[in-house]
Amino acid sequence: AADRTGRSCVEADIHRPVIECVSLLRVYESATGRVQAVRGVDLTIESGRSVAVVGPSGSGKSSLLRLIGGLDEPTAGDVSINGVSLVRLSGGERRRMRARLLAHVHQRPMDNLLGHLTALEQVVRVAERRGVGVEESREMLDALGLAARADHLPDQMSGGEQQRLAFARGAVGSPAVIIADEPTAELDTASTDRVLDAIERLSGERITVLVATHDPRVLERVDEVVMLRDGSVASVTDSGIELAVIDHAGRIQLPPEVRAHFPDRRALVSWDAERRTFTVEEP
Ligand code: ADP
Repeated sequence: AADRTGRSCVEADIHRPVIECVSLLRVYESATGRVQAVRGVDLTIESGRSVAVVGPSGSGKSSLLRLIGGLDEPTAGDVSINGVSLVRLSGGERRRMRARLLAHVHQRPMDNLLGHLTALEQVVRVAERRGVGVEESREMLDALGLAARADHLPDQMSGGEQQRLAFARGAVGSPAVIIADEPTAELDTASTDRVLDAIERLSGERITVLVATHDPRVLERVDEVVMLRDGSVASVTDSGIELAVIDHAGRIQLPPEVRAHFPDRRALVSWDAERRTFTVEEP
C-alpha cells in the first residue's frame, strides 16, 4: 500500500513523530524569584532517531528531559508521546504511560540498578511490567553485548557494562523513548563506545533515544543534535548540517555573536523569492 506521495505506509509510519513539544514552558518559582527554565520549546522528533540535547549548564536540558519523560508538568504548552498528550492525562494514566512507553537512564550507573539482582533479573523485572518475559530479556542482554553477564550482580560488572545493563532494562518490551541524562559522563572511552553501539542498535529497533550530554564522542554518533540556549532551541544539527529553528510564532533565535551587531534590537529583514534567501541586516 502506498500513500499519495508514493511512499509505502510502512515507511510513512517510520517518519511519524514520537515526541512532540509545542510551545513548551516551564517556570520555576523559588525564593529568589521566577526562572524560565524552558521557554517556548517547539520540537518534533521522529521514531527511531538518536538525538542529543546540548547547551551550557543551566540552559534547560534536564528540565526539558523531565517534561518529555513525564516526570514534571509544564507551566504551559504541550508535550505528546506517540500522539498522546501527557498534559491531558491524569496522574495515574501518566504513570502507566511512563511505565509502558518511557524509560530513564541516569548518569551514575548504580542509580539505575538494584544491587541484589542479577543482570537478567533486573531486565525481567521491567520486562514483566511491559508484558514480555525472560526470552525477550535474554535477547535484549544479548543485543547489548551482555549475554555472558546474565547471571552476574552489578558489582561484578564494569561501569560500562552496568550502563549498558541500564539501557537493556530501559529498552526491553519496546518502549517508545529512552531518555538518558549524561549517560557516559562516568565512563572511559572504550565503555562509551559500547554504550553508543547500544544506542545505535536501539534506534535501529525504532526506539527513540534522547540524551542530554556534553560528550563530543556522543555528538559524533547521534542522528541529530538539539542545541538549547536560555531555555529555547537555538539550532538543530541534522546529518552534520546546522539549521536554525523557527518556532510556532515565527521567531528565530540569533546566536549571541550575531545579536551583538544589533544593539538596538532592530533589524532590516528581507526575502528574495528568486534566490530563496532570507536576509537579516543591520539597519
Ligand atoms: P541544565 O540541565 O541545562 O543544566 P536545568 O534544566 O537543570 O539546566 O536548569 C535550567 C534553569 O532552571 C537553571 O537556571 C536552574 O537553576 C533552574 N532550575 C532547575 N531546576 C529548578 C528547580 N527545581 N527550582 C528552581 N530553579 C530550577
